[in-house]
Amino acid sequence: MGANGFDAENFFASGDGITYGDFIILPGHVGFSVEEVDLETNLTRNLRIKRPIVSSPMDTVTESRMAIYVALLGGIGVIHYNNTIEEQANEVTKVKRFENGFITDPVVLGPDNIIADVDSIKENYGFSGIPITEDGTLNTRLIGIVTKRDTDFEENRNKKLREVMTTELVTAPAGITLAEGNRILKESKKGKLPIVDKQGRLVSLMSRTDLRKNEDFPLASKNKDKQLLVGAAISTRAEDKERLSALGRAGVDVIVIDSSQGDSVYQINMIKYIKKTYPHLEVVGGNVVTASQCKSLIDAGADALRIGMGSGSICVTQDTIAVGRAQGSAIYHCAKFAREYANIPIIADGGIANIGYIAKALALGASTVMLGSLLAGTSEAPGEYYYENGVRLKKYRGMASLEAMEKGGAKRYFSEKDKIKVAQGVSGAVVDKGSVVHFVQYLMQSFCHTLQDVGYRTINDLHKALYNGTLRFEVRSISAQKEGAVHSLYSYTEPHEGLVRTRM
Ligand code: GDP
Ligand code: GDP
Ligand code: 5GP
Repeated sequence: MGANGFDAENFFASGDGITYGDFIILPGHVGFSVEEVDLETNLTRNLRIKRPIVSSPMDTVTESRMAIYVALLGGIGVIHYNNTIEEQANEVTKVKRFENGFITDPVVLGPDNIIADVDSIKENYGFSGIPITEDGTLNTRLIGIVTKRDTDFEENRNKKLREVMTTELVTAPAGITLAEGNRILKESKKGKLPIVDKQGRLVSLMSRTDLRKNEDFPLASKNKDKQLLVGAAISTRAEDKERLSALGRAGVDVIVIDSSQGDSVYQINMIKYIKKTYPHLEVVGGNVVTASQCKSLIDAGADALRIGMGSGSICVTQDTIAVGRAQGSAIYHCAKFAREYANIPIIADGGIANIGYIAKALALGASTVMLGSLLAGTSEAPGEYYYENGVRLKKYRGMASLEAMEKGGAKRYFSEKDKIKVAQGVSGAVVDKGSVVHFVQYLMQSFCHTLQDVGYRTINDLHKALYNGTLRFEVRSISAQKEGAVHSLYSYTEPHEGLVRTRM
């Protein structure tokens, strides 16, 4: 027994709680090149994305900038809710407006608006190419366009737009395809292409920048209108129905219900409410770690489950509350149950402290991984860098740390009214990891090598092998773990500085 390791079922049959550091995946047969690996996966029941990466809804990890770049790279970001409803909805809007095919609700102004109005649009949304219609609303006659070049050197910001707008326009008729629109945009060499109906009324807008973004980021996670996908977190409290409605109006694609113990009557009611009121929204339930918890949320209508209780790097739940589960066991048992019961994908959330842990989470049945600490040190995470002992750092804190709870984060942990607050997280710092663009590509390339070494081309094939017993595992003793790390050298250079410093 054991000559080729163990299949997952036997491996997880003991009562031990197993996690990432405890085991290793045995190699298979390499039959293809690393370029042939395809990482497409299910985020939820109905949403597929090209990379299995989700950024965590934490106020030191995901606001619009992180969500935009993670989505451009093929994953998805979940905007945190430790803010006002308006602030959170605005972050969603920024992601949805970042990239487009046809912009079906472009911001327009009228001829009597002034240059300062364009300035404030630029400040809030980041663009400044504004179509001018007769009365400043969509679906009225297009009379001009104002772009950077019309307003750049104008000192008087109170000047009316009718005096600076360009009136000779290249437009295209409503009803053209995206590919035709793109061709006209290329040929016209203009930055914007307004689309007008037979009466000359503006119906939508196309932007040349989007063509470039599409070429730079071919894996981007997008909806049918070519807008980036984005998620947002809410709590299980009834008052968050208002938050939900604002997020819906802003165009959110996925709602993540954020709760440390997801199997509650509050969450079940919230999932049912969302599925009934906003049937087009995908709902991620959680967090859960057992099969029976999964069943409650799947029965309520969840489209994906977030797995993890007490495994996060900033988390002290298992020590203070004594409830939770080792993350490897939680993923294996929940993923297996959710697949067999309703074919619902799971998100492995928390405890991804090393590059290889992404591969381990997916090998245990997860369809995506949710990252907190790993992304918190990138330049796209909220907050500024600072130095401590000469090391460049960024702040990273648990949403149930005293510090974050003071800003409103306690909702997740049922303790808003508690007189004595029991923190379930800490605040700390992580090392600078540079841009998320390079970092995520590096993580994904490593995972491609894992798939090649075990001999499966896709995540789907990896999961099939997990359940039919061809994927093999073995426990690593303490000595084996030491052997697997760098050892016996006098000194050496880290291959990936930021990661090694954060090693568990
Ligand atoms: P789909 O399968 O119909 O969604 O097709 P594609 O995604 O391949 O896109 C169809 C056309 O739209 C192609 O000409 C693409 O280059 C173009 N396209 C894809 N994404 C974008 C985008 O974000 N903006 C713009 N303007 N064009 C895009
Ligand atoms: P601009 O020249 O300052 O307008 O900016 P760019 O053309 O470089 O970029 C505009 C970006 O904002 C594109 O990716 C658009 O898809 C996006 N966008 C989203 N909503 C709007 C909108 O209402 N108007 C404009 N002009 N761009 C929008
Ligand atoms: P990391 O990737 O840093 O190991 O874990 C991130 C995850 O930890 C988050 O996605 C979330 O599920 C969880 N988390 C975030 N803040 C807290 C907290 O204050 N306490 C606990 N118990 N978990 C947290």
